[in-house]
Amino acid sequence: MSNNNEKTTEKRAVIILGSGPAGLSAALYAARAELNPLVLTGMVLHGQASTTDTIENYPGFPEGVGGTELGMLFQTQAERFGAEIRMDLANSVDLSTHPFIVNAYSQQYAADSLIITTGADPKKLNVPGEKDFTGRGVSYCCTCDGWFFKDKDIVVVGGGDSALEESIFLTRFARSVTIIHRRDELRGSAILQNRAFDNPKIKFIWDTVVTEIVGNGAVEAVRIKSVKTGEESLKETQGVFILIGHRPNSAMFKDQLKMDDKGYIVTNHVMETSVPGVFAAGEIADPHFRQVITSAGMGAAAAIQATRYIENLYAEQNPSEV
Ligand code: NAP
Repeated sequence: MSNNNEKTTEKRAVIILGSGPAGLSAALYAARAELNPLVLTGMVLHGQASTTDTIENYPGFPEGVGGTELGMLFQTQAERFGAEIRMDLANSVDLSTHPFIVNAYSQQYAADSLIITTGADPKKLNVPGEKDFTGRGVSYCCTCDGWFFKDKDIVVVGGGDSALEESIFLTRFARSVTIIHRRDELRGSAILQNRAFDNPKIKFIWDTVVTEIVGNGAVEAVRIKSVKTGEESLKETQGVFILIGHRPNSAMFKDQLKMDDKGYIVTNHVMETSVPGVFAAGEIADPHFRQVITSAGMGAAAAIQATRYIENLYAEQNPSEV
């Protein structure tokens, strides 16, 4: 990458920000529409899904597929049709002008259409042991990793719909699921609360926070602390699922695109954002599903709609050629 001071502007029909399932599916569809799309990968090549050991719920892989391998397959397929995947990191955009301007680490870009797939990161507890044991007992995705905890005693941190829904899901595999919540009242919906309360495998520890994840090579316990009494203790467990919400990577688009109160980019049913020509897909626009398949589907839809937008734009600019 060259120095930021020596920026040149490269113009493209379609630029895709992010290289996860949504971004690379958008790239595949835009490439097959002969739009020569450019993907700026962002910090995590192939996105969050590539950090998952095995993905067992993406159709077409009955034995499962490694997260890294699936990301590479997505990339290879998009490249086969002419998509360009470039290691570069967008750090600001100007959507008030057209073509849209993207300022990235290595240079400046201009795009007739922009597809935003910058994803969302699970919120972290930021306690000792969390980072060390991620992938070795600490997980942020029950759908991805639940199966690995067959017949184990699992801890879930959180009190929202995700914590409740995923805890219920985990009881298919786990011997027990203990939900540790920092208050004595759940945030999640009544229907999920009732299902969780009725599930004999689910127990609750109230008014309590996890202060450390403890183990030797793999998770063995969590250190917990009562927020009411300050009393500390160890709770044995083989798995810790941290489900305390997600943070969309949307700071760069603040005040330029319509967002919800949590910072997710608002789209309509065809992936259009509040700015014509700018589309969003995957977890940046999806607080609900967060699956590889749903993100990939949204990415494909965004690229199809971007193709229509560009066809109309070019027809308006050069009516004699239509
Ligand atoms: P959420 O609603 O923001 O809930 C996060 C939970 O984690 C809250 O209970 C919160 O505690 C707790 N928490 C946050 N930071 C924490 C920390 N540092 N330490 C300990 N606990 C912490 O997030 P979500 O459950 O992921 O849900 C996100 C959105 O998706 C919601 O709108 C939800 O309704 C929706 N959703 C819907 C479904 C469904 O309808 N089936 C399923 C999943 C998600 P407090 O309660 O004390 O703030």
